[in-house]
Amino acid sequence: MNEFYKMTEKDAMVTVNGSTEPLSDQQVASNREKYGPNELVEGKQKSIIRLFFEQFKDFLVIILIFAAIISGILGDVESAIVILVVITINAILGTVQTVKAEQSLDSLKKMSAPEAKVFRGGQFIKIPASEITVGDRVSLEAGDFVPADGRIISNAGMKIDESALTGESLGVEKDVSVIEETVPLGDRLNMVYSGSFVTYGRGEFLVTAIGMETEVGKIATLLKTTSEKKTPLQVNLDNFGKKLSILILVFCGILFGISVFRGQPIGDAFLFAVALAVAAIPEALSSIVTIVLSFGTQKMAQEHAIIRKLQAVEGLGSVSVICSDKTGTLTQNKMTVEDYYVHGKKISSSDIDIGNNGERQLLLSSILCNDSTIADGKEIGDPTETALINIGIKLGISYDMERSVSIRTEEIPFDSDRKLMSTCHRLTGDRPDLFNGAENVMITKGAVDVLLNRVTAIQTAQGVRALTQQDITDIETCNSDFSQNGLRVLAFAYKEIKHGFVPGIDDENEMVFLGLISMMDPPREESMAAVAECIDAGIKPVMITGDHKVTAAAIAKKIGILKDESEACEGSSIDDMDDEQLKSYVEGISVYARVSPEHKIRIVRAWQDKGNIVAMTGDGVNDAPALKQADIGVAMGITGSEVSKDAAAMVLTDDNFATIVKAVENGRNIYKNIKNAIQFLLSGNFGAILVVLYASVFALPVPFAPVHLLFINLLTDSLPAIALGLEPHNADLMKEKPRPANESILTKDFLSKIGIGGLSICIMTVVAFLIGLNGWFTAGEFGGSALLGSTMAFGTLCSSRLFHGFNCKSDRPVIFTKRFWNNKYLIGAFLLGMILITMALAVPAFDHVFKVHALGIPQLLTVYGLAFLNIPVIQFIKLIQKKVKERKNNV
Ligand code: ATP
Repeated sequence: MNEFYKMTEKDAMVTVNGSTEPLSDQQVASNREKYGPNELVEGKQKSIIRLFFEQFKDFLVIILIFAAIISGILGDVESAIVILVVITINAILGTVQTVKAEQSLDSLKKMSAPEAKVFRGGQFIKIPASEITVGDRVSLEAGDFVPADGRIISNAGMKIDESALTGESLGVEKDVSVIEETVPLGDRLNMVYSGSFVTYGRGEFLVTAIGMETEVGKIATLLKTTSEKKTPLQVNLDNFGKKLSILILVFCGILFGISVFRGQPIGDAFLFAVALAVAAIPEALSSIVTIVLSFGTQKMAQEHAIIRKLQAVEGLGSVSVICSDKTGTLTQNKMTVEDYYVHGKKISSSDIDIGNNGERQLLLSSILCNDSTIADGKEIGDPTETALINIGIKLGISYDMERSVSIRTEEIPFDSDRKLMSTCHRLTGDRPDLFNGAENVMITKGAVDVLLNRVTAIQTAQGVRALTQQDITDIETCNSDFSQNGLRVLAFAYKEIKHGFVPGIDDENEMVFLGLISMMDPPREESMAAVAECIDAGIKPVMITGDHKVTAAAIAKKIGILKDESEACEGSSIDDMDDEQLKSYVEGISVYARVSPEHKIRIVRAWQDKGNIVAMTGDGVNDAPALKQADIGVAMGITGSEVSKDAAAMVLTDDNFATIVKAVENGRNIYKNIKNAIQFLLSGNFGAILVVLYASVFALPVPFAPVHLLFINLLTDSLPAIALGLEPHNADLMKEKPRPANESILTKDFLSKIGIGGLSICIMTVVAFLIGLNGWFTAGEFGGSALLGSTMAFGTLCSSRLFHGFNCKSDRPVIFTKRFWNNKYLIGAFLLGMILITMALAVPAFDHVFKVHALGIPQLLTVYGLAFLNIPVIQFIKLIQKKVKERKNNV
């Protein structure tokens, strides 16, 4: 086996690729063929057949199979066959739903799969990390995951967190030099390993192993698929379902006893009790939630929010605080240079004169201490830095040429804690003239307040002199003028260094101040509306930014986040507060400026301690802990680091604040829809039980045959429930306050709705039952009979439930509104259900199978009419409830 850490970079390249040249397209193709995709093999996915058979593991299905066998033994072969057919259809439906839900989760996972920057076709491009192959040159920077194992070929202060492999939690400082002796993995400083991530610096490496051949791959020869955890709502419903099931089973047991006591054959009584239990136990609750969540997340993905943790969808519905970065999320992140401040003068960008020494020096510094490039017209790099090279291009200065005569020798990369970036250069040609003859300089740029503390001298038209108090006042005044207009300001400084100097962060001092550059980053157009929507919806938007307080406040005011300057503070002002003090402080603050990632965690915690559900955005490597702490960590899909994406519950593919607000709206809608679907299922089940109870109390014949209950429960029930889960948004969704996070879904109000719905269904069904049983009104030529009674009860119960679907669309009356018709899935499920029940009721050939007496037109119309009555009755009750609520609110 090759020990690449013992080789020079060149030897490693030759060993892997046969030359020091980058991989050609052909080599990439053949290596991909040879080594396969860069993926860790996951545990085997369950096959469709297995999923199908798993549907039979359900306790109720087992009881049903048992019931079918007993029916068969008792000679009722038809019932046995019907039960088995219905169970099979149900299992097929269950399998299809599971496969669909899994597919949609898989596609979500793929959408948020990590990417890597790889040298292909003469330049670095971003590709999915799974497409990397052996021999590729991969570029790394702070926040990137290391996508494969490899030998480092260039290094600018890279520190790598290898804790996943070695357990060592401190970042390891990397180095390119050859290691002579044999050393363990943790000491191979010139290597990087898949599964670790870059916490600092930049570099490149040559891929030497991918996929299962990497060190992590070897540890985890077979990774088990991490099973998706159930969401709190699912757990809640599972518990509720279990308790309810026990209650129903006891009820059915008593019913069985009474029936036998009254002389019913044991077999029949048993079958009926089983069917009632199956019909009444809401076994589909948890799976309805899964299906609705998976459809919902797909819709959210189309709207630029990719959900990485399913739990987040429910959480989104109760978000009450959104803490958002400014740059790029609330603003466009399209920076343009507005002004220079140099030699004590403000110069608008249109008036910059590169013939002037000071202006030229500032311009060149801003191009050199800068990592951005433009390739094929595409801007690559930080927009702040791109703005700096764009102004140079406008003035006819090629950044490429400048960087080639002022060669970068060392660098200290930018990081948002330090708020500075430094580069060292060897100046050639006539460039030393610009820097007072210095041949080697270190240029530093960064936040004005930070850099001002590091400068002791100033560059003036007359040369370098000591910095005076007046200079500082002038610079600060200029900075605050720029900031008040919402401009982002960077300060520049330099100092002469010795040849071969390797800088550390302690060397960023005793510098010569060069000047300031202000940049415009306009707010996104959608931000204002999204902020207003948040406030309407009872959600507090908070801006948390690394930028200057005055700049941040100016932008926040424009967008509507901040009303008064007193609502803005600097991160450092919370340093001295303990958690209790911070808790009472956060409510009054809308803008935090100059914030470090540690501040973010404290702010999130303080809001959480006050009982809020907090969404928090983050993009840098240091933001990962805050993203994990937040209830909904939101990462930026475009500018965010891979590490932040990994820590987040949701990734925005457009980095846009408005998308978070839309996701909250979706979260609220999904939760409401799930609630409505559950209301639909439970009220229908409750209705059925009440009818049976009624018949039992009044010693009437059994109102339903077991097959009736199975027909309803397994065939006509689940589609409307799913359709309700797909109900579109309504306009008042974002006018309500957020749902309390700890609110159980089964509130008194919710249970009373189930009670009222169930009662209405029960009354209609009992009326139909009595008509058929006693031969009243429309029983017509049939005369009354137990069979006709149960046929009409079956028809009415089934169609009442279908009609009741429309009642469950909303808490408000919708009958004469467009909303009544706005869910095509519900209409489809209704029509399909009505066709099925009509066929069962009206086609004489099914009489035996479904234990019915084929109905004529008058009886059918009676059934439909009674079932339809559920709509006006419930809608009327909703209208009264609405009026009472309004009156209460007005008092
Ligand atoms: P947000 O936190 O809202 O995304 P931000 O981009 O201003 O805002 P940071 O990236 O943490 O936050 O930047 C903090 C400060 O560091 C900026 O206000 C600026 O003064 C300085 N800064 C930003 N980018 C650079 C850079 N590339 N080089 C040097 N200094 C920078």
